[in-house]
Amino acid sequence: MDINVLTVDGTRIAIQERQTTATAIAESFYKKIASEDGEINGYLTLCRERALEQAHKIDAIADKGDDLPRLAGLPVAVKDVISTKGVRTTAGSKILEKFIAPYDATVVQKLEAAGAVILGKTNCDEFAMGSSNENSAYGPVKNPRDKSRVPGGSSGGSAAVVAAGTAVTSLGSDTGGSIRQPASFCGVVGLMPTYGRVSRYGLIAFASSLDHIGPFAKDVKDAAIMLEVIAGRDPMDSTSAEVSVPKYSDEIGQPVRGMKIGVAKEYFGEGLDPEVKSAVETSIQNLAKAGAEILEVSLPHTKYAIPTYYLVATAEASSNLARYDGVRYSHRSPEAKALSEMYRKSRDEGFGAEVKRRIILGTYALSAGYYDAYYLKAQKVRTLLAQDFDEAFARVDAIVTPTTPTPAFKLGEKADDPLAMYLADIYTVTADLVGIPGISVPCGNSKAGLPIGLQVFAKHFQEGTMIRVAHAVEHAQAV
Ligand code: GLN
Repeated sequence: MDINVLTVDGTRIAIQERQTTATAIAESFYKKIASEDGEINGYLTLCRERALEQAHKIDAIADKGDDLPRLAGLPVAVKDVISTKGVRTTAGSKILEKFIAPYDATVVQKLEAAGAVILGKTNCDEFAMGSSNENSAYGPVKNPRDKSRVPGGSSGGSAAVVAAGTAVTSLGSDTGGSIRQPASFCGVVGLMPTYGRVSRYGLIAFASSLDHIGPFAKDVKDAAIMLEVIAGRDPMDSTSAEVSVPKYSDEIGQPVRGMKIGVAKEYFGEGLDPEVKSAVETSIQNLAKAGAEILEVSLPHTKYAIPTYYLVATAEASSNLARYDGVRYSHRSPEAKALSEMYRKSRDEGFGAEVKRRIILGTYALSAGYYDAYYLKAQKVRTLLAQDFDEAFARVDAIVTPTTPTPAFKLGEKADDPLAMYLADIYTVTADLVGIPGISVPCGNSKAGLPIGLQVFAKHFQEGTMIRVAHAVEHAQAV
């Protein structure tokens, strides 16, 4: 069995038909991880015992000849900001180096209930803050498509393991682009659902009004199936929505004929790499050939998205990260002699430079006297951004854009320039601010062979529409 070509359905069917077993598949993946992940550094922790126990359960069902659940035997990786009971969960930070999560995140429970085999936890930027995975306390991840380049971030490990074939699918989190941007850089599919579509119970919080959990996969269909499994209301997360979950995978192969697809001129301006532009434009022409009507739309407040995001995200982060005080589940400095010194030293030793920068920026933005000028104003701009989309979506069913302005950059290239790094998110942050879903699907390669991603946005809770368009983009390249 060639484990590199496994899909969600292919895995289940191969086990059901007794061509292989879930245990054999898991063992093959661990072998591949042992030989290939050392260089890529996609995994931080493997949970072999737990994975094999789950694989045995699946094999026992297959032995009896009973129907297997949807994700039976599927080798999955989970970003290390998502809690896994009894398994180390670090958020890519030294401050949580020894943290063993006491419970499973709802998404983890759902994956395992559907038969998935969780192989391990993936590397990421510390507390999901970053666009290159270089902010991880456990070393950077290398892009499997070109190991001199970054995989993107912050879910760099989750994108890289799918691209490298050391997992079939994975979960990541997206606060400003952290699923879609690394998917684009690594040449895989990354899906950010609508805010409220997927429970965040058990997700280590970065910015609570922006955080989302979503899947990575090799193709749009597998991403759709993953979403089907993890979506839905969860009483443990009051921000999860009471909206029924459609069968997203039914959208695969549905025609785009007659659909209205918007192209926003603000996403094709200055700073866009010509090769990215041309690959995205070719895909748009393919959508037109498939019968979609292409319309120009305008999202005039787009230019304010990056500053707005970096105010809201840092403000919320400064509040969320206050809990790492050395008292409860984080690193405690052994040297401190008084309580306040213990807080200070523990945080100073445990947090990396980017996390400290964000806490300082966020605390400033929330401080008395500046709150109205910064945080409140940013929330108002958020409303303007949402109105841009309301107006555009009154005319179109979906909007397509490049996912990132350039293909993957070199390791170290932007590491000392936070502002240049922040601009890598220019096309992704708005969807997080507005709460609409977005997907990145590969749409070609640069001359140097680097993957290029196309992004599709849809209205709130219309992930099906987005999946249909993304699949059409994927399909047009295959023919
Ligand atoms: N790169 C963005 C940041 O650094 C987004 C991160 C994310 O989506 N988690 O904040």
